[in-house]
Amino acid sequence: MIIKTYIAGPFDANNYLVIDRDSREAVLIDCSDFKQEIIDEIRNNNINLKYILITHGHFDHVLGINRMKKELNAEVIAPAEDLILIENINDHARFFGQEIIDIPTHDKTYDDGIDLRIGKHEIEVIRTPGHTEGGVSLLIGRNLFSGDTLFKDSFGRTDLYGGNSTKLINSIVYELFKLPDNTIVYPGHGNSTTIEYEKLHNDIMHYVKRG
Ligand SMILES: [Zn+2]
Repeated sequence: MIIKTYIAGPFDANNYLVIDRDSREAVLIDCSDFKQEIIDEIRNNNINLKYILITHGHFDHVLGINRMKKELNAEVIAPAEDLILIENINDHARFFGQEIIDIPTHDKTYDDGIDLRIGKHEIEVIRTPGHTEGGVSLLIGRNLFSGDTLFKDSFGRTDLYGGNSTKLINSIVYELFKLPDNTIVYPGHGNSTTIEYEKLHNDIMHYVKRG
């Protein structure tokens, strides 16, 4: 598996191109801006981009969808519970002083029973509400794409529409921290990390009731 990281958009979100080495099938995880480098990588290496997968509906992760889809012709899959965020994207964008004219569109949701895989690697969708109601983390082999749920040393904010701190703690502690220690975490912003490191160092542990 090859994982390429592209930083793009107003808040430097990570977009990940995940490529199966054998079949050359790939997915793009989050799509925060138009990025010619991603298009070139796909075309120059005969990569078959199957899906654009959205971790959650915040505007800084979806702004590139329409223009990238036009070039790459891959289906866009979004979380059903976050469609309200994408459809009303300016409610969120205006909060950060932005105005979006080209509202991002999607083709399907994770609830549509899609056979998500690249080559022989199955893509597991883990529901991780809390940062947003519909937020998902995507597990491919031992690589976890955690969106804005889990960051290195930190975690996603819960004060925006649909955020819920109890749900976020449960998502991280009871869903993500049960994954094997050697799982590599690729967050929506910032550097990658591992589940083992985060269990020891992440700030969320200060909020977990002990005993
Ligand atoms: Zn977010």
